[in-house]
Amino acid sequence: MSNKETTTDVILIGAGIMSATLGTLLKELVPDWKITVFEKLSKAGEESSNEWNNAGTGHAALCELNYTVEKPDGSVDISKAISINEQFQVSMQFWSYLVNSKLIHNPQDFIMPLPHMSLVQGEQNVSFLKKRFKALSNNPLFKGMEFSDEPEKLMEWIPLIMKDRKLDEPIAATKIDSGTDVNFGALTRMLFEHLKGQNVDIHYKHNVSNIYRTSDGLWELKVKNLESGNVEHHTAKFVFIGGGGGSLHLLQKSGIPEGKHIGGFPVSGIFMVCNNPEVVAQHHAKVYGKAKVGAPPMSVPHLDTRYINNRKTLLFGPFAGFSPKFLKNGSMFDLITSVKPDNLLTMLAAGVKEMSLTKYLIQQVMLSKEQRMDELREFIPNAKDEDWDLVVAGQRVQVIKDTEAGGKGTLQFGTEVITAKDGSIAALLGASPGASTAVHVMLEVIQNCFPEHMDEWGPKLKEMIPSYGLSLMENPELLHEVHTSTAQALGLSQKRPVFS
Ligand SMILES: Cc1cc2nc3c(=O)[nH]c(=O)nc-3n(C[C@H](O)[C@H](O)[C@H](O)COP(=O)(O)OP(=O)(O)OC[C@H]3O[C@@H](n4cnc5c(N)ncnc54)[C@H](O)[C@@H]3O)c2cc1C
Repeated sequence: MSNKETTTDVILIGAGIMSATLGTLLKELVPDWKITVFEKLSKAGEESSNEWNNAGTGHAALCELNYTVEKPDGSVDISKAISINEQFQVSMQFWSYLVNSKLIHNPQDFIMPLPHMSLVQGEQNVSFLKKRFKALSNNPLFKGMEFSDEPEKLMEWIPLIMKDRKLDEPIAATKIDSGTDVNFGALTRMLFEHLKGQNVDIHYKHNVSNIYRTSDGLWELKVKNLESGNVEHHTAKFVFIGGGGGSLHLLQKSGIPEGKHIGGFPVSGIFMVCNNPEVVAQHHAKVYGKAKVGAPPMSVPHLDTRYINNRKTLLFGPFAGFSPKFLKNGSMFDLITSVKPDNLLTMLAAGVKEMSLTKYLIQQVMLSKEQRMDELREFIPNAKDEDWDLVVAGQRVQVIKDTEAGGKGTLQFGTEVITAKDGSIAALLGASPGASTAVHVMLEVIQNCFPEHMDEWGPKLKEMIPSYGLSLMENPELLHEVHTSTAQALGLSQKRPVFS
């Protein structure tokens, strides 16, 4: 066993979309910083960021009903939708910068234009959708959204869903053509290919097993080379824990007080994939429905056209599953070993509070193929068993923590950046809205961890992300410019509405 030792400026743990984004941003801001990446698998983008492990929705709140809640007075709160849309525009601008600067190529390999739709049935749901549409379509960020409750119009928009449908209750949908399907796996691989060319030291099959603070204020990582079996020690001034589901264990090992009293609960995703090209050809949209009562927000059912390996395909789901693993390639002991003396009460409180989630997961795990087909038939009334197969997607580790609003052991559905007080280490936990907002979230890491550089880096950040520091909603001219330029750079123009 040799004991290789290196020192570097930045270590990124994990080769998913988050580390890829942070590494690319830092290389543009400070090209001479030395960056090293450790990834336990043999390739980049093999866990949640892989195209088969997530739904590939460019989350911009164009179709996800859980981002707009009905308030007790009956009005619809669109503040979360605005914030998520603005965050997605940040990703679009950064990706456009990378394409325009020829740092990555062929944007159609990772992003495609695709209408985003919301579909509901029943009088109450239709009335909610109408109110939501009114609130959103008056906002410049959602310009171009259409609403219809006419079956003939819906037949034009979603023939596969409307064919053979019993119209015994009201039905309505919204549609916006500026939605996208994003292949986050392809994007992650492109970014790591780019980083390799920028002299970033990328080590696959290297598992980070421990993190310590050294006496001189650096972070030392214990890393096992999974090919040779050698244990190595690497130090850095700054560490980003971008291990996806693996981040919580590493954060706990770092011992930083900010990482205490936090737990994680894994929920796996299962999709049905259509194997009949004739059926695939009849649908062209991402159609999001409403979550069932008691179901967590990430289990909203949707029927999605996807572009994977340059082929159009059709996926339905997600169904939730349970596995105690925190990563698809994780260990059966992940959940149990994440319970520590400092988060035990938090976890126990969540266990008591989240009985409905537990019940929901048990029901989901017990579903037979026929029961899953019945759920699919709520979208495609004449779906045939033989046209659909199951695919197991990624693991989402939902954060559990004590909050003022929710009390002890509150389950969180968003992403959380945990940063040490001195900014020398940061970890990303949680998975929603996820990869779509990677650029916004990694900018948050940069702002929290490198405040002393922000003045100097401001002009470059503005060059890469013209709306940096501004609200697009409040700057309609800039919004128009951003929409036009990103659509052009990313090859999305042909399907996007004209913004005046
Ligand atoms: C079912 C499902 C559907 C989703 N749908 C969407 C969607 O439609 N749109 C969207 O924007 N987001 C979606 N997401 C969320 C999105 O996939 C994630 O937010 C995103 O991929 C997380 O990226 P990451 O880089 O943090 O993690 P990952 O992609 O999981 O990468 C983490 C990497 O770290 C490595 N690693 C872990 N531990 C170690 C260690 N100790 N040493 C070395 N390497 C380690 C892992 O092997 C892995 O490669 C979905 C997620 C799931 C599960």
